[in-house]
Amino acid sequence: MHSTGLLIANQVVEATGAATFERLNPLTEAVATRAAAASPDDALRAVEAAADAFDSWSESAPNLRRSLLLKAADCLQAREADFVEAMAEEIGATAGWARFNVTLAANMLREAASITTQIVGQVIPSDKPGCLAMGIRQAAGVVFGMAPWNAPVILGVRAVAWPLACGNSVVLKASELCPRTHLLIGEALWEAGFPVGVVNVISHSAADAAQVVEAVIGHPAVRRINFTGSTRVGRIIAQTAAGYLKPVLLELGGKAPLLVLDDADLDEAVKAAAFGAFMNQGQICMSTERLVVAEGVADAFVEKLASKAVTLTAGDPREGSSPLGAVVDQRSVLHMNALIDDALSKGAVLRCGGIQDGLLMDATILDRVVPTMRIYAEESFGPVVCVIRVADEQEAVRVANDTEYGLSAAVFSRDIARALRVAKRIESGICHINGATVHDEAQMPFGGTKSSGYGRFGGQAGIAEFTELRWITVQTQAGHFPI
Ligand code: NAD
Repeated sequence: MHSTGLLIANQVVEATGAATFERLNPLTEAVATRAAAASPDDALRAVEAAADAFDSWSESAPNLRRSLLLKAADCLQAREADFVEAMAEEIGATAGWARFNVTLAANMLREAASITTQIVGQVIPSDKPGCLAMGIRQAAGVVFGMAPWNAPVILGVRAVAWPLACGNSVVLKASELCPRTHLLIGEALWEAGFPVGVVNVISHSAADAAQVVEAVIGHPAVRRINFTGSTRVGRIIAQTAAGYLKPVLLELGGKAPLLVLDDADLDEAVKAAAFGAFMNQGQICMSTERLVVAEGVADAFVEKLASKAVTLTAGDPREGSSPLGAVVDQRSVLHMNALIDDALSKGAVLRCGGIQDGLLMDATILDRVVPTMRIYAEESFGPVVCVIRVADEQEAVRVANDTEYGLSAAVFSRDIARALRVAKRIESGICHINGATVHDEAQMPFGGTKSSGYGRFGGQAGIAEFTELRWITVQTQAGHFPI
């Protein structure tokens, strides 16, 4: 069992009244972490620390920010064993998933380091004689980032890396399901040497989430908000932010389709489908949730996929011998079983897996899913994927878009021009041709559309999200005014 505090102004402090909450190991139900439970006032202390640090940090040299972010990447990777242990204990993740998290998160810090000298503006022709007009990008203020548990290192780092690179100070809100994992990120950043107050990390109990979030969003120093989590909570965050007229970047749920057209390379499609549907037990926002398959190749595709999927069994991640770990909690098991039960009762065909007790759930494939089944529309966020058979390309596109979500998608076809035409018609932020729906790189514009949210992390898009674009002029000759 580990105890964690709040990371405020480079000190590890207790919450008011030494309040704590517990995160249990999902498999053993032993206490994995006893974490400080911040009150709204504690959270505001973190914001004040970030606000105090903002002026000098926002003026810091880009090469200083670069060197700190590069150092932070190394400090993060040096903690890999701690992350592996914390993620197994708190969320039942496999060591492979934890290591992948640390590697990609370190790359995000390195990529963020590379943009510190690329935060450029423009000189804009002015009609006013002697007026030099510029559009310049400045740090916005305190950035409040909220990260989920499912890819905790990647998404926790993502919530702060670009904001820091742009000269903002940050408050990161840990998930109640993995407080230690998220706090380890703060410790790595502190070790890298960020000045006092630039990086703050808070944890709180689930019961206090709404009050803590509202208090932080409402603080005048907080100028940008980012949230990665469910569409349900994303709506609440968006509404709260709107009340204070603050911009918010939302990365929410998904129901990613992978289209297998009649000319697809089925072996490649199967590899991508199995990885996309079942990696991290299907608990990735980009996870393949719907396999939209041309009827002519559906039997062959499902056959091949099922023989791959039966090898994807779940085991205790601490033993390290199984490709899949645990799902995050019992609620998730009940959700999965309810979706499977509903689909089977309405005529779906079970190709492997099925209703299972316990958090170690093997891969499940449901074939011949139709719109009346819950799993057609609802995010499973677990190791259950459905196959929807379609007559042709036109129907494949219609089905792909027949969802409230729009984060990631994939199209398999040997005809790249055809696949590109199809990709352009899919309503999603991201689409991969002949690749898996699960694919993330730090330098790419990452984000969704429709109920998957708005705004983009990564690359140049991330700079626009976390800076204020100002119009500044210099009058270089005597001015003429009408009055
Ligand atoms: P969640 O939305 O259930 O919880 C996120 C956080 O919201 C919690 O930690 C909690 O502190 C906070 N919260 C809960 N109620 C609140 C309220 N009333 N007001 C303010 N805050 C509140 O999400 P989760 O279970 O942590 O993550 C799973 C979801 O995240 C899935 O839907 C998944 O698709 C999505 N996700 C999206 C991306 C992406 O990049 N688009 C990435 C990973 C996960």
